[in-house]
Amino acid sequence: MMHSLLPILVFAAVSAVTVAREYTLADAQGGEFPEPELDENGIPVGMALVGGDMLIEREKLPLYEAEGLSGLVNSEAWRNVRRWPRKIPVGIYLKNRRLQQFIVASINDINRRQRCVRFYLIRRPVRQKYIVFIEGHKNRCYTHLGPVRGKRHFIHLSSSCTSPRTPAHELFHALGRIHEQNRYDRDRYVQIYWNNIRHHMRSQYRRERHAKTLGLPYDYYSVMHYGVYSHSNGRGPAMRIRNRRVNPRRVGREAWLTNTDIAHIVRRYCGTG
Ligand SMILES: [Zn+2]
Repeated sequence: MMHSLLPILVFAAVSAVTVAREYTLADAQGGEFPEPELDENGIPVGMALVGGDMLIEREKLPLYEAEGLSGLVNSEAWRNVRRWPRKIPVGIYLKNRRLQQFIVASINDINRRQRCVRFYLIRRPVRQKYIVFIEGHKNRCYTHLGPVRGKRHFIHLSSSCTSPRTPAHELFHALGRIHEQNRYDRDRYVQIYWNNIRHHMRSQYRRERHAKTLGLPYDYYSVMHYGVYSHSNGRGPAMRIRNRRVNPRRVGREAWLTNTDIAHIVRRYCGTG
């Protein structure tokens, strides 16, 4: 009898260790956090905002201009940035309860659906490198692409970023992923209408020639995909969906991560792609 129970008991013990803890709003810190120094545009000093919501160091701008984000990420200049460890501490220092709720829900969702990266909430600073959600400025939401050099990786969220998808979107940038419509093969899936895009936003639609797709299919419903009308100048949509089976109204609007989004984390952080 005891013998037949053994495998079940072992399974239960292993499950108890690996099942992610579900966080609640009570786990969010919600207080103040010393912010990085900002310049007159509300951007951290020494940083440049590229691709809409990603920060890179100013000294890397020429390389970005020449080679794009993927060229930058694959370059020598990026070597000093290491991958995240499997367990990533996260502090939430935001007053907006709705935003706190969306962050907690995103973290629970990501933790529940894969085991390669585990976010865990902290209520006070820790020794290792960690992610800090803090108030954004000038209605902006942005973060550093990939793990930042140094200990604290800030994700700035202003109260105008109250979409349930925003925290997961920014966490993906922190993990090193770029926007889906910037993939090198995107022209097969979407047609960009350059004349319909506001002039200063056009750089956000550049094709990243060296982007790694990790062998995963193009994902229209990814949390990293823009909507068809994002940054339109009013003359019409910024892009056309080439696949007739895809609902354009759902593109860029999905609140939660798709299975392909989750597969990105697994391939990148479990090294299976
Ligand atoms: Zn983004």
